[in-house]
Amino acid sequence: MSEAVHIVWYKRDLRVRDHRPLAEAARRGPVLPLYVAEPSVIGAPDFSARHWTLIRQSLVELRGRLAELGQPLVVCIGEMPDVLDALRDRLGALQLWAHEETGNGITFARDKRVRRWCRDHGVPFAEAPHMGVTRPLADRDGWADRWEAQMAEPRTDPPEALTPVDIDPGPIPTHADLDLPPCTAALQQAGEAAAHDTLQSFLYRRGRRYQQDISSPLTAETSCSRISVHLAYGTISMRQVVHALRTRRDELDGVDHEDAGQWRQALNAFDSRLHWHSHFMQKLEDAPRIEHESFIPDFDALREDEFDETLYAAWKAGCTGFPMVDACMRCLRTTGWLNFRMRAMLCSFAAYDCWLDWRRFAPFYARLMADYEPGIHYPQVQMQSGTTGINAVRIYNPVKQGKDHDPDGTFIRRWVPELRGVDNAASVHAPWTMPPIEQHATGCVVGEDYPERIVDHNAAYHHAQDRIWALRTQPEIEAKKEKVLEKHGSRR
Ligand SMILES: Cc1cc2nc3c(=O)[nH]c(=O)nc-3n(C[C@H](O)[C@H](O)[C@H](O)COP(=O)(O)OP(=O)(O)OC[C@H]3O[C@@H](n4cnc5c(N)ncnc54)[C@H](O)[C@@H]3O)c2cc1C
Repeated sequence: MSEAVHIVWYKRDLRVRDHRPLAEAARRGPVLPLYVAEPSVIGAPDFSARHWTLIRQSLVELRGRLAELGQPLVVCIGEMPDVLDALRDRLGALQLWAHEETGNGITFARDKRVRRWCRDHGVPFAEAPHMGVTRPLADRDGWADRWEAQMAEPRTDPPEALTPVDIDPGPIPTHADLDLPPCTAALQQAGEAAAHDTLQSFLYRRGRRYQQDISSPLTAETSCSRISVHLAYGTISMRQVVHALRTRRDELDGVDHEDAGQWRQALNAFDSRLHWHSHFMQKLEDAPRIEHESFIPDFDALREDEFDETLYAAWKAGCTGFPMVDACMRCLRTTGWLNFRMRAMLCSFAAYDCWLDWRRFAPFYARLMADYEPGIHYPQVQMQSGTTGINAVRIYNPVKQGKDHDPDGTFIRRWVPELRGVDNAASVHAPWTMPPIEQHATGCVVGEDYPERIVDHNAAYHHAQDRIWALRTQPEIEAKKEKVLEKHGSRR
């Protein structure tokens, strides 16, 4: 009987280093590293051309790295069970290796079909834990210890060589091949090399002022780690990031120059956020329904019948009449990235000011984010929409956010050219306060050159507070909150 071919199924783990399935497969026989561009995933409402740009860049690099080891990455278009059928016909006995994926409902159902296919065809399928997520998990007791244990494991070296398989690796599909529109966004560079360069530059150069700079979109752009894109596509593992961070921290031990204290604070804050990454992913892993349903389902009825398409269109276009909101949306549309606070503010504006149902706008928001990670995205969108029942209701004032985090309006003028002639720092955050003569003088007549405000923030604030708290304080909701806390709450 011929030797089984070991398929390493790449999904959101596009790297060769610290890749346990690849290393395990390589030890056992011929290896076929495989990426499948699945129409069901690519055609989903949360997928966009910019995601494919980043995946494609990563695949090109990955193919080169694997070729150096002896077997280039094989890429095909199709649904995974069909691809497995074809490979089995062609190659005979198979064994399948992959990382566990905490994806959307489509990949969750697909993974179940693949497991069933493997059972039906007697193909062994081994899945390794990924990104600090534990599967399965009854509750959160001991979660942090499990995360630490996963992170403490040694990193897996890439195999020295792969025993090749006689198969055409196929072209790496272009956007057109997948019926995706061209991508015009100015995105971060993807791929394994860029992941490590980005991390090193953060840990040794860019990150010193992390804590001071994280809230302003002006400074966060360089002072934040920018590692999210790489974690999302797995061009670096969480373990690699944690090890590099802790090495850097150890190097600072005993150093007492002025900067060292600031660096230590920055590294500790970064460390916490890496925990959050997995903590949030664990929520979706434990309750896949939260992609489509509020943590407490009673909250779904809150906004369900009140969706205002006009407000939604203005929010999506970055034409709400609130300069900071519009600047942030236009920045995200162009670059695929925004810092946490501004993502939260945009979401709050959609959910509270425009009273839009998160279930409708979350996929659009996901398509914009280069680092879209379902396990972080849906819980965050729900937190910023007030539908978890357990988190503080945080309604951002868009004018205050602008004044606090872009005091002289530099960010606003960069992204909202209609306001470039408005030199006055106060007016650029609230152009409607300029008298008509000033509006004409600055070339920004509100209602002509730049939109009128689409909502009254103060009225929207009170409306949202009243509606959310009226529901939150009902006795039957109190009991449901306890359950959400029990299942998803941090034990720290
Ligand atoms: C509505 C909304 C949607 C979001 N959607 C996503 C998403 O799809 N993908 C995504 O990676 N992040 C998401 N975030 C979280 C956060 O905004 C980004 O992780 C961060 O801005 C990425 O930039 P960075 O890598 O420079 O982050 P840094 O500030 O340098 O943080 C380091 C890493 O910690 C993790 N992290 C940071 N903040 C959070 C957080 N609040 N929750 C969980 N993990 C965190 C990320 O892995 C991040 O890369 C969302 C936030 C909000 C408010």
